[in-house]
Amino acid sequence: MLIDRAYAPVVTLGPGQRIAVWTVGCSKQCKGCANPELWRADPAREMDDAQFADALIGMAQQGGIRRITFSGGDPFEQPESLARVLAAIRPFFDDILVYTGYTIEELHGFADGTLAHLRGMSHGDAPCAVPQSHQFPPDWTHHACLARKRTAVKTALGLIDALVDGPYVESLNDGVCAMRGSSNQRVHVFNDALRDDYNASLEQPRRIQNVHFGDTFMSIGIHGRPQEA
Ligand code: SF4
Repeated sequence: MLIDRAYAPVVTLGPGQRIAVWTVGCSKQCKGCANPELWRADPAREMDDAQFADALIGMAQQGGIRRITFSGGDPFEQPESLARVLAAIRPFFDDILVYTGYTIEELHGFADGTLAHLRGMSHGDAPCAVPQSHQFPPDWTHHACLARKRTAVKTALGLIDALVDGPYVESLNDGVCAMRGSSNQRVHVFNDALRDDYNASLEQPRRIQNVHFGDTFMSIGIHGRPQEA
């Protein structure tokens, strides 16, 4: 998986104390994105999925933390790695939250094949635009790749407890909700046991957690528009 960092404890990206993961790679390029340095899917940031999952489990056990948030970047632009990491860590977490710039309808549509292509789900950066019926001879490798990604999106969706979906729209950043950057984004809670926790988080005002991490300082949380920050 392409990873920028993981940090704990984080208290500003979902209910309770959590591990937060920032993945690398996002093709949406939303205006005003808080993490544009994470857009490029830099292969140098790759970490073996199994090793990364082990590291997260170790962090969880060491800190007594059973909640985790995946942000980025867009974790769903690496669906196969995301599915593998989620499957490995699932038994060690009670609450897995993923932020994505896709809508849940796009993810479901891509997973079930009713949506032929999804930006960022192409075979690398390249030729996702050519429908199979227009190719001769068909590029089976390419379509096998897409089939794997569809399966992985479905698997990943089945392994998470909550999803914050949709692109960030700067003009819709009302500075209010502690869990989403703009009002078009939706918080989907799939695990009924966590619904009260998420409802409580949704009613909290925004707050930012400033931490010292390695040789840098990080501001963690949902930020206001630049002029409001
Ligand atoms: S989807 Fe998220 S990470 Fe990607 S550009 Fe938009 S705000 Fe940034």
